Amino acid sequence: MIPASFAYERAQSVREAVELLESHQGEAKVLSGGHSLIPLLKLRLTSPTVLVDIGGIAELKGISAEGDRLVVGALTTHAEVAASPEVRRHLPLLAEAARQVGDLQVRNRGTVGGNIAHADPASDLPAVALALDAVITVEGPAGRSEVPVEDFILGPLLTALGGSDVVVSVAFPIPKGKWKGAYEKYPHPASGYAVAGVAAVIGVDDGGTIRDARVGITGVGDMPYRARDVEAALVGNPATEEVVRRAAERADAEGSFSGDLFASEDYRRHLSKVYTRRALMRSLP
Ligand SMILES: Cc1cc2nc3c(=O)[nH]c(=O)nc-3n(C[C@H](O)[C@H](O)[C@H](O)COP(=O)(O)OP(=O)(O)OC[C@H]3O[C@@H](n4cnc5c(N)ncnc54)[C@H](O)[C@@H]3O)c2cc1C
Repeated sequence: MIPASFAYERAQSVREAVELLESHQGEAKVLSGGHSLIPLLKLRLTSPTVLVDIGGIAELKGISAEGDRLVVGALTTHAEVAASPEVRRHLPLLAEAARQVGDLQVRNRGTVGGNIAHADPASDLPAVALALDAVITVEGPAGRSEVPVEDFILGPLLTALGGSDVVVSVAFPIPKGKWKGAYEKYPHPASGYAVAGVAAVIGVDDGGTIRDARVGITGVGDMPYRARDVEAALVGNPATEEVVRRAAERADAEGSFSGDLFASEDYRRHLSKVYTRRALMRSLP
């Protein structure tokens, strides 16, 4: 299908993008890589009157280490994240997830900011963002603010972003002490999106006891979630395969599960446990 007609504006700075969005009073949308927005336009599931292209804003590109976190600019592509030596060294599970997004074309065009802002329930990065307690920097008419990912993603394709807000970056904290993490995914065979995707982080103390455990799950229902029941079953226990096996059985205790033609709700519940177990096993330090 052909999209409805729209005007096109190219912002030179984040401030200008915010002002353009504000001047069109909810009728405009940000354009980043276009890999989710353009299909929606073509299907006429959304019909903004204006697209504000932020693709030329240099400030939104790149990855930097700031203290104990890696800050990924909103326009950084999945391919850049996957290939980044800094990401691979400090947060290998983030590189691992970025490497599994869609196909080569999608990874070369799709952006981290667009992925988080779109809040597709089957996207990969939200699971990693949840497991790492990522923080989203947003610029809006009132200035910049930081929003924890758990307060940012509110539902399917629904976020805390206002109509004139732009995602500037996503900060991924680097866990402290001795830890490991992993991302495990069951990809949809056609699209590559997650039918189930699990990001896990396990930190242990010197005696081998789990002192920190975080699990983010995506793809199985309306929105990604933190599997806090699983985490509670891990913390304070020895970092063993048996402990992991028991904890992973709680993966479907939270979250909202749904089924479709490809995978029933029951199957997704099953996958949540299997992929949680796999991600946790690989996260045992
Ligand atoms: C065939 C195909 C397969 C895919 N497979 C996967 C997959 O396996 N896993 C996965 O996670 N993703 C997948 N994707 C999605 C892809 O990874 C992109 O991340 C995603 O399309 C959004 O990023 P984008 O830069 O293209 O955003 P766009 O399409 O430009 O924008 C998407 C939405 O976010 C808003 N937006 C974008 N950037 C910002 C910003 N900086 N501030 C505020 N709002 C913003 C837009 O207004 C729009 O509403 C796939 C896409 C396709 C087409």
